[in-house]
Amino acid sequence: MVKFEKLAEYYGVLEGVSSRLKMIEIMSETFKEAEPSEIEQIVYITQGVLAPPFEGKEFGVAEKIAAEAIALATGYTKEDVEADFRKTGDLGSTAENLVSKSKLKRMSSSKPNVSDVYSSMVKISESSGKGSKDQKIKLLANLVASSSPVEARYIIRYPLGQLRLGLGDATMLEALSVMYKGDRTLKEHLERAYNICSDLGLVAKELKSKGIKAIEDFSVSIFKPIRPALAERLPTAEEILEKMGGECAVEQKYDGFRCQIHKMGKRVEIYSRRLERTTDMFPDIAAAAIKEVSSKEVIFEGEALAYNDVTGEFMPFQETIQRKRKHGISEKAVSLPLRLMAFDLMFAEGKSYMNEPYEQRRQKLEQVLNGSETIKPSKRIITRSAKELEDFFNSSVSDGLEGIVAKDLKSPYIAGARKFSWIKLKRSYQGELSDTLDLVIVGYYRGKGSRTEFGFGGLLCAVYNEKRDIFETVSKLGTGFTEAQMQELNNLLSKIEQKSKPARVDSIIEPDFWVYPKYVVTVKADEITKSPMHTCGMSIQEDGSKSGYSLRFPRLVGETAVREDKSPEEATTTKEIIELFGQQKKVRVSDR
Ligand code: AMP
Repeated sequence: MVKFEKLAEYYGVLEGVSSRLKMIEIMSETFKEAEPSEIEQIVYITQGVLAPPFEGKEFGVAEKIAAEAIALATGYTKEDVEADFRKTGDLGSTAENLVSKSKLKRMSSSKPNVSDVYSSMVKISESSGKGSKDQKIKLLANLVASSSPVEARYIIRYPLGQLRLGLGDATMLEALSVMYKGDRTLKEHLERAYNICSDLGLVAKELKSKGIKAIEDFSVSIFKPIRPALAERLPTAEEILEKMGGECAVEQKYDGFRCQIHKMGKRVEIYSRRLERTTDMFPDIAAAAIKEVSSKEVIFEGEALAYNDVTGEFMPFQETIQRKRKHGISEKAVSLPLRLMAFDLMFAEGKSYMNEPYEQRRQKLEQVLNGSETIKPSKRIITRSAKELEDFFNSSVSDGLEGIVAKDLKSPYIAGARKFSWIKLKRSYQGELSDTLDLVIVGYYRGKGSRTEFGFGGLLCAVYNEKRDIFETVSKLGTGFTEAQMQELNNLLSKIEQKSKPARVDSIIEPDFWVYPKYVVTVKADEITKSPMHTCGMSIQEDGSKSGYSLRFPRLVGETAVREDKSPEEATTTKEIIELFGQQKKVRVSDR
């Protein structure tokens, strides 16, 4: 069994490391020492969660609770804790400091294992209702009181969601491969398993207890969300058809909430694009899945959007988004009913359809939805003609929709990846770069002039480099913000400030403040240009200089300041920026 102290020591080393190879090495050592029964917990703790995120288990520990627990465990006053926190800016370090000079005797002589700490954390998370605050403080204080200083650092940071290890899921998968085989060659198998269950702890446990065969045979299961397939983009109907081998399906593209629906008998769960459980938000869709879908066991997905029964029209996203709420859900479901336009099926009646070709999945989808009013298959055509594709695109746009998604008739369902088996064409990017980009905030600037009162002057934004599992800067962003958005950003970002550049950020530019890569913003720009200042796609040029990519005239768009439905890893990727840059050039050449 691994002692929590040992894990904390590994974390301490990890924090000081920025080389990815080194991180993989350290983490694989940790995994090697773990028993099959505890590797799952080590993975969750390292991810900063109690269970896979789709289970939505919250610690319910705010900074105030953590501060009181530190005081109780060390004999210092709340004021002492706050004073130290003002110096360190991190309650974990404060816990470490105060434990090292604790006024009380360390509790318990035996050192806790990882599983002891984990089960205490589960208890902390499960205490709810009246008196739960005091109980959480007591449980957390007990843990801190029996910790060494370095253990205390992570025991406090973990439930606050501030581990700061700089370790992404991709790096963890490679570490698992190294643990098992000594090199990174198993990563693809592990990634595939992860993409179809979204539970890294489970993948680690299966590998450690049953070996690689179990990972290769890994299949979908109901109530474990599949990481969604994503669409590539191309600028013209001709290019889409060519890429698809001359023939493809073309579906209308609906702009609403992506829903992955899992049903078994009378139980239904709905997962968002980010794999959060959103069942409670869509009572009408959940009820329809039970009553109107013929299959008893099924996983399928679609886009939920507001629909006007009277005119038979879909409503724009600004209307649909009103369904995103915590209160008055059932009233709103009546006044603003949703339709689910289903576009794929991954599992039905005990059989996985993941490896079946698109056309097969579609047939099954139509069969299980036969007769449903609320859940309909997306409207589509199958075509070999660019003209027909364009006509369908134009009629979709004039129906108020976003555009189309073309689908490769023969392709399996490709979980968690952007592949050319789905290609989107939206009205806006025929010609210029007017499709939006989703960028990750990695730093921000203090305000000047009229913005000083909010303390906010702009953002440093990055894209995700999947290969390196790192965020590369692509743009500063200073326009498009409303006052309310500036205030909100200032608020959100001040909470995740970092003293120095976070481990997973690659940047030449130094912002006023670094922040942990957590929030995604939607940005429009006129053009992608080459730039020596940004690390996105940076490579050595013919003349020996280094150049990356950046955005010309970037501006924030969207109703909300940050996109809560996207995680940093789901932001626009470096690869996409390079592709968009290439498409831009083509468009301009052919325009002349
Ligand atoms: P985008 O968010 O612009 O990358 O476009 C991809 C998104 O379009 C998917 O994540 C779905 O939520 C949505 N979508 C709407 N209609 C379809 C469709 N017929 N097929 C696939 N995705 C669709």
